[in-house]
Amino acid sequence: MMRVVLGVDIGGTKIAVAPVDRDGLPVAPVSRTPSDARGEAEFLEGLSRSLAHSADAARASGHEVMAVGLGCAGTVSRDEGLVVESPHLPLTRTPVARFVADRLGLPIVLDNDANVAGLAEARVGAAAGLRHVVMVTLGTGVGGGLVLGGRVYRGTTGAAAELGHMVVAAGGRACRCGREGCLEAYASGTALERTATELVRGAGRLSAVEGWEAVRGLAPGITDPVDVSAMSARVSEGRLSGEAIGSLAASGDAGAQAVVAIVGVWLGVGVANLANIFEPEAIVVGGGLSSLGEPLLAPARKVLKSVALSPSRDASLVMASMGSEAGVVGAALMGWEESAEIGL
Ligand SMILES: [Zn+2]
Repeated sequence: MMRVVLGVDIGGTKIAVAPVDRDGLPVAPVSRTPSDARGEAEFLEGLSRSLAHSADAARASGHEVMAVGLGCAGTVSRDEGLVVESPHLPLTRTPVARFVADRLGLPIVLDNDANVAGLAEARVGAAAGLRHVVMVTLGTGVGGGLVLGGRVYRGTTGAAAELGHMVVAAGGRACRCGREGCLEAYASGTALERTATELVRGAGRLSAVEGWEAVRGLAPGITDPVDVSAMSARVSEGRLSGEAIGSLAASGDAGAQAVVAIVGVWLGVGVANLANIFEPEAIVVGGGLSSLGEPLLAPARKVLKSVALSPSRDASLVMASMGSEAGVVGAALMGWEESAEIGL
């Protein structure tokens, strides 16, 4: 019988599950069900039901289910098996691991979504086979995962790798964490929209973009002022979203391209710091913003190469390759690796 671990990705609106083999390959399609966010009890019931269903389906197709790996958006206390809090879900110090373990009778490992995504990329994704990997996820905010010496690094209680809250511009833009000048304030989806809005308000003058003076030397070749007419039209229609900026940039709009390049330069400032601190083999960029591709990554890579110390600057800066399966595969691989440690 082929052994599998159920990999589970608990997001804000959906629960994704798949049985995954020891090599990190899902042996059945990823099933996605909406998470029940009416309350804690309803959420836990819904989660256990969909996991029991997936476990039964895996057994019916001849697999032995060894364990469950859970990755959850938000703050997780791994040792206690608690989801401390999670965006969009009614969970507060909720004993998710124990509840699921009792219902399914299987060993459970629980971690946050950025750590499991980092593990997936380091084992079977863009940084497959590397031992020192920094993962930066660029979504609405900026998250991070660290795989150091081949293992996920979590800090004292599991709260480490908040890479988005590294200050890159002291006294700069306000961040939702309460500080000023965090990477998240310059290189997230929110920051992309904010940079575009500032540029539009400033009629395309780069000096209107907060923090421009600090990075202008790192971003040669952006014309000043830049044509913001297409972005202005989107602003007056009330839809200058990150996606709109991305598609304008892809269609060759100079204003949107400048916005993406500026965000890319700030990303470079951040990853240069990370390279200096960790000297990783690779820095993997994931999350929704990574769909901007090379127009975002190329300026960041240039900054990394020009300001980080040698040899740390030689870290490769690459796009994540696992896509929407990263959470499921990473959670399952975590289950596999920790099950081995406890002798399953
Ligand atoms: Zn912050």
